Amino acid sequence: MSNTPALGERPFSGIGLGEESRQLLALAREFARDRLRPGARERDQNEESVDSEIMAEMGDLGFFGLRVPEEYDGLGLDVITYLRILEELAFGDPCPALSVSVHNSLPVEILCKQGTEEQRRAWLPLMATGEVLAAFSLSEAGAGSDAASLLTQADCDGEGGWILNGEKAWVTNGAAAGLTLMFARTDQPGDRRRSKGIGAFLVPGGLPGLSAGKKERKMGQRGSETVTMSLEDVRLGPEHLVGESHKGFQYALESLEGGRLGIAALALGIAASAAEEAFRYSAEREQFGQAVRHFQGLEWILGEMSVKLEATRGLLERAARARELGDVRARRLSSAVKLFASEAAGWITRRAVQVHGGYGYSREYAVERMFRDSRVTEIYEGANEIHRSLAARLVYRERNVSA
Ligand SMILES: Cc1cc2nc3c(=O)[nH]c(=O)nc-3n(C[C@H](O)[C@H](O)[C@H](O)COP(=O)(O)OP(=O)(O)OC[C@H]3O[C@@H](n4cnc5c(N)ncnc54)[C@H](O)[C@@H]3O)c2cc1C
Repeated sequence: MSNTPALGERPFSGIGLGEESRQLLALAREFARDRLRPGARERDQNEESVDSEIMAEMGDLGFFGLRVPEEYDGLGLDVITYLRILEELAFGDPCPALSVSVHNSLPVEILCKQGTEEQRRAWLPLMATGEVLAAFSLSEAGAGSDAASLLTQADCDGEGGWILNGEKAWVTNGAAAGLTLMFARTDQPGDRRRSKGIGAFLVPGGLPGLSAGKKERKMGQRGSETVTMSLEDVRLGPEHLVGESHKGFQYALESLEGGRLGIAALALGIAASAAEEAFRYSAEREQFGQAVRHFQGLEWILGEMSVKLEATRGLLERAARARELGDVRARRLSSAVKLFASEAAGWITRRAVQVHGGYGYSREYAVERMFRDSRVTEIYEGANEIHRSLAARLVYRERNVSA
C-alpha cells in the first residue's frame, strides 16, 4: 500500500485503512461534502433538522445500520470504521451525525446485547434502514449527571405488562423517533434502590399517552432536534421490557461507554472541519503584503491545531480498540477521549474563529457555527467534570483499589 495519501484525502484523516473501509469512508466523505455540508448553515439558522429526503438517502446508504449486525440487515461494522464514518459525517454537519451516533451507539447497541431474539428481529432490520429512527431517553429535568435519580415510573399492570408515567428531558431524535429506549423506575416509592431500580423499555412512537413537548432552542447543533417527552399512562406489553427489569441503568452505562466514543468522533469531525477552514483561510488572506499564515503567531496556532487533531485521533483509536477487545481499560478510555476530543474541539474552533479575524465572527463563515456546534460535546453524554473524576477513579478501580 502506498504511503502517499490518496488525492483529495484530508491530511488529518486515518492512516492504514483496509480497502472496504476506504470505500465506505470515501462514500461518507462524498455524502457529507455534497449532501450535508451545503445545507448546514441554513439548518442552523432556521433551527431545522435535515429533511426527510436526506434522511432517506442516509438510510439507503446504510448509515443507520452501521452497527447493526449483518444478519439483521445492517453493515455490522467494527468500532473503528464506524467512528471514522461518524467523523466524516460530522465534518459535513454534526447534527445528522449526532442522529446516527445516538441511534447506533445506544438503542442499537442495547438491543444487540440485551434484547431477546424476538426483539432484535422486530426492531433491528427497521432500524438498519432508518425506517425507524431511534432515541435514547435517560435524562430528566432533575436528573442529569445524577441520572440514577430519575423519577419516571414504570408500574406492573398485573398482566405482565407496564404502565409508564413521567417527564423526560433532552431527547435527541425525540419527536422524529419511531422508537425510544426509555429508562423508568421499576422500584416503588417506599423501596427506592437508586441505580438498581431502573428498567429499560422499548417505547414505539405514536403510542397513546406519549407526546413530544418543548423543543429546546440551543446555542449550537441547532439542526438536531432536542425535545422533552411526556408519558401519561403509556401502556406497554411484556415484550417492551429489555433485559431484566432492575438492570436498565447498568445497560445505559454500558452503552454510553460506546456512545462517548461516538461523541468524541463527532467532536473530531467538527474540529477537523474548523482546522481545514483555518488552514485554507490563513493561506489566502493577506495582510502586510503576505499570507497571514506566515506570521508566527498564527503558525503556532495552526501547528497546535494539527497536533491536537492527531492526538485526538490516536486516543480515539486506542479507546476504540480497547472497547472492541473488551479490555479492562475500555471504560476509562472512552471517558478520557470524550473529554479530550471535546476540549480539543473547543480549543480548535475558538482559534479557527480568531484566525479568520472579523470574518470569523460573521455568520457568513462556517467557523462561527462550528464554534457553537462544538460546545455541547463538552456537556452531553456526561459533562466533562464527570469524566475528569472518572479518569481518576477508574484507574483505582482497574487496580482493584476500593473507594
Ligand atoms: C443538546 C443536548 C442533547 C442531549 N441529548 C440527550 C439524549 O438524547 N438523551 C438523554 O438521556 N440525555 C440527553 N442530554 C442530556 C445530557 O446528557 C445532560 O445535559 C448531561 O448529562 C448533564 O446533565 P445536566 O444538564 O442536568 O447538568 P447537571 O448534572 O445539573 O450539571 C450542572 C453542572 O454541575 C456539574 N456537576 C454535576 N455533578 C457533578 C459531580 N459529581 N462532580 C463535578 N461536577 C458535577 C456538571 O459537570 C455541570 O457543570 C442532552 C443534552 C443536551 C444539551
